[in-house]
Amino acid sequence: MEGQSVAESLSEREMVERLVETEKRIDCIETTLSAVTDEIDGLSLSSRCSKCENAMLIIKDGVLYCPSCGDGHSL
Ligand SMILES: [Zn+2]
Repeated sequence: MEGQSVAESLSEREMVERLVETEKRIDCIETTLSAVTDEIDGLSLSSRCSKCENAMLIIKDGVLYCPSCGDGHSL
C-alpha cells in the first residue's frame, strides 16, 4: 500500500473490520433463524423477496408471503 496516507489505510481497515463483523452477525442471525423456523411446524423460509428485497419470504400453511411488503401468493 505505497503512497497511501495513514488515515486512508486506517479507514479502509475499519471498513473491512466492519464488513467482517457484519457478515458474522448475518451468519449468526441466519443460523438462529433457521433453527427457530425448524422449531415451528408448517413454517419455512424461502428466498429473499424479489419485490422489496427487505426480507426473506415466509412459507406458512402453504402460503408464501413477504413480512416486509406483504407480497405473496398461495403455493
Ligand atoms: Zn417484499
